[in-house]
Amino acid sequence: MPLSDDQKLRYQRNILIPGFGEEAQAKLAAARVAIVGLGGLGSPAAFYLAAAGVGELGLFDPDIVELSNLQRQVLHATPDLGRPKAVSAAETIARLNPEVRTTTAQLRLAEANAREALDGYDVVVEATDNFAAKFLLNDVCLDLGKPLAVAGILSLSGQAQFIVPGAVPCLRCAVADVPEGVPTTSEEGVLGAVPGILGSIEALEVIRWIVGLWRPRADGTGALHSVDGETMRLNTLRVRRRPTCRCARLWSTP
Ligand SMILES: [Zn+2]
Repeated sequence: MPLSDDQKLRYQRNILIPGFGEEAQAKLAAARVAIVGLGGLGSPAAFYLAAAGVGELGLFDPDIVELSNLQRQVLHATPDLGRPKAVSAAETIARLNPEVRTTTAQLRLAEANAREALDGYDVVVEATDNFAAKFLLNDVCLDLGKPLAVAGILSLSGQAQFIVPGAVPCLRCAVADVPEGVPTTSEEGVLGAVPGILGSIEALEVIRWIVGLWRPRADGTGALHSVDGETMRLNTLRVRRRPTCRCARLWSTP
């Protein structure tokens, strides 16, 4: 569908990007993205995906907004305390860009419900606060063949990986199984700007994939982006395929 005059203005700075144009904008408008977790990572991811004009966002989070969330979970504001994050997020997005359709689910994704919940989406943003959920979403997205943006944060540092099943290594290629004894942000804190960066990287990867800017590397490796807010080192590590990984069956080349 051609863009309206208002859409041409709203998305003018997208459309002007060399290689982007109205065609890429139309791809964003047709895309359906699930965001699992509407906290520190999910907030910037949802904001930038909505602002960019992604057609539909599925907003998943079982929790309510608490006072200790507000130093980083910028989708939510003080009047939202005690309200479901999914509802608060949908209202914030509606104020930013009423063109975006939102579906809200005050739901914790688990083995029993994740496949059905994510089935209708083109791509998934993992923005949870625990390793078990990250690995669950990795495995479900491998099964469903859906691209997945994963990120993790703690204190002043964070990492992000974008997984396209069969095209780049998965989370388990980088970390074979749920690591033991890793502290959480409720134990070691997190500065809000850190998930701000990592969640923005997730949004950028998703947009790149939707509009066709994303390309796999010829050598089959993936990228693990890391941010160290203490030293301000930004790194990209290469992730190799692990031949015994559950994603190995999806690779067409050895
Ligand atoms: Zn793998």
